[in-house]
Amino acid sequence: MIDLRSDTVTKPSKQMLEVMSQAKVGDDVFGEDPSVNELQEYAAALFGKEASIFCASGTQTNQIAINLHVQPGAEVICHYESHVFKYEGGGIAKNSGASTRTVGGDRGRITVNEIEPWINPKYDVHYPLTQLVSIEDTSNRGGGAVYDFEEIKNIKKFCSNKGLPLHLDGARVFNALVENNVDYKEYAQQFDSISVCLSKGLGAPIGSLLIGDSSLIERARRVRKVFGGGMRQAGFIAAAGLYALKNNVLRLKEDHNGAKRIEKKLLEMPWVEHVLEVETNIVVCILKDSSRVNEFVNKFEANNILIMPFGKGMLRMVTHLDVSQNDILEVCAFIESLE
Ligand SMILES: *Cc1c(COP(=O)(O)O)cnc(C)c1O
Repeated sequence: MIDLRSDTVTKPSKQMLEVMSQAKVGDDVFGEDPSVNELQEYAAALFGKEASIFCASGTQTNQIAINLHVQPGAEVICHYESHVFKYEGGGIAKNSGASTRTVGGDRGRITVNEIEPWINPKYDVHYPLTQLVSIEDTSNRGGGAVYDFEEIKNIKKFCSNKGLPLHLDGARVFNALVENNVDYKEYAQQFDSISVCLSKGLGAPIGSLLIGDSSLIERARRVRKVFGGGMRQAGFIAAAGLYALKNNVLRLKEDHNGAKRIEKKLLEMPWVEHVLEVETNIVVCILKDSSRVNEFVNKFEANNILIMPFGKGMLRMVTHLDVSQNDILEVCAFIESLE
């Protein structure tokens, strides 16, 4: 099977398993797991931030961050296709009692112009207090679109002027960073909190990090516990995360090249209406006949290729480290055979 449904489907490599089995562990709720501590320090240093905290999932890191930034009744500004709004089970309302002001924007990204009209006036009691802006880089629903760093800086400047924190859902931030070539630290400076997934394209089996200044991360430890996310000998999985950060970042470029090749092939096919221009590892294909989504998904599956239906008339294919160059050739050949 060639599994293009998501970059979450990767399995730990032999080397990664080896590192995991050798990990030194302790009780991380007591702060005593050396492997967790090493990962947290490494990730914080990588982004030039003071601290980070290892969590079970990207949903958990996002939800902890939101909980730290907002009070009940306040409002979070985010894109209407963002993961924090669309794919976290209503967690913003449920966990933090906050409301959401969703805004539009090209391919899952938002600009200052899209945020500005929705900052509520603080001194008018009718309005919920705007307390956070959250952006996603790369954008999942936007087909892996990468933010222009200038736009991020504009958003940060704007938020700072309004006294608003800026959160990054960086589930695929390394896919963005290998493409935009921005210095990690300069990039991270723009955000008050950063959520990073280790279990997407980086290939670790479990885990995400929330990165920020030490006072934020100290408070995050309490919220993680309350959310049931305190883990004990988590060093076995933290070791996989550290291995992933050290070995699997630069190779993301290969995934992007593979996705580009699939895009090119799709664009040659008469049944394809449009492909969102591939920027990273996600290919979103819009069919001419939107009623054929299931038919295509089934045909791919019958040929041992798994892809994902992605809303009306759309298919998603994601490349990752368990998809080889040969697999890409096979996928392209199969696409060519379809009518
Ligand atoms: C995958 C993903 C997350 C986190 O998902 P989990 O499955 O909870 O780890 C967050 N944001 C985006 C954009 C994602 O794609």
